[in-house]
Amino acid sequence: MDILKAPLQKIQTEIGLKAGVELSVLREDLSHPFLSGNKWRKLKYNLLDFKNSGKKAILTFGGKFSNHLVACAAAGKILNIPMIGILRGDETVINPQQTFLKQCGMHLLSLSREEYRLRENAEFLSELSERCVREFPELISFPDELFMIPEGGSNAAGVRGCVEIMQDIPIDSTHIMVACGTGSTLAGISIASHEKQNTIGVSVLKGENFLPESVVRQGEPKERTKILFDYHFGGYAKSTETLNLFCKNFSNHYCIPLEPVYTGKLFFACIDLLSNNYFPKGSKIVLIHTGGIFDFKKPLDF
Ligand SMILES: *Cc1c(COP(=O)(O)O)cnc(C)c1O
Repeated sequence: MDILKAPLQKIQTEIGLKAGVELSVLREDLSHPFLSGNKWRKLKYNLLDFKNSGKKAILTFGGKFSNHLVACAAAGKILNIPMIGILRGDETVINPQQTFLKQCGMHLLSLSREEYRLRENAEFLSELSERCVREFPELISFPDELFMIPEGGSNAAGVRGCVEIMQDIPIDSTHIMVACGTGSTLAGISIASHEKQNTIGVSVLKGENFLPESVVRQGEPKERTKILFDYHFGGYAKSTETLNLFCKNFSNHYCIPLEPVYTGKLFFACIDLLSNNYFPKGSKIVLIHTGGIFDFKKPLDF
């Protein structure tokens, strides 16, 4: 399987020059057409753990547009691992993601939103495993043949993979910024950062206090780690005209594709902070492009 090392791309912005800072982007979006960004980082050790477990299939979770499910489906196809994807919401939406999952051979099961909410409840998961034995007898014969990966790949193995992102970031960078959903990616880079580096998460979700707790639980950040809560643009997967226009203009100008769910909010936040002189002169800022943009028309014969 070919996962490329993400290139570091310097970008020249007028606003960066004015502020006297250097701005670079770690292009994790370019590491693979479908197993890209932080979703590959979070899957790496989960896939190794699966191989070592002797189990027969992977069970994991996601919404209709889930980047994690796309990465899992691609990994399943490339590595020949049977995958079961549990989808949130029982209404059938046909979108390019769903078509891709099916083309990769992922087995799908939809849960109502109420059931889906129980996805971390042990009793529910044991029932769900029984149900998978009935639904997919060609894959597994017993519930304990399933290897579970939580939504987004956000467990300890996922954080371990994200720790490795820092190997691709220059040691003299002073500020490392990343979009935050569960905060696992931020937790990983925070663990691996050195004492002169600041790691900054931009929350794509509305609601304070939720994120710091999850990051603390997963990776115990130091004081140099913080999360900004003012750039959610209405909440998860919500956007505005301003954000859409920003993504479009930025993508066109720098040839770095952005989408409004994750990376658009991160880059918007960085430019906004620059214009407010947030970073001291001489700062070396690295933005982690966590992927999330797929060309589903690409052929599947990887
Ligand atoms: C999932 C995802 C994130 C969020 O990662 P967390 O580790 O959950 O904070 C950020 N960017 C993209 C493109 C993603 O797909």
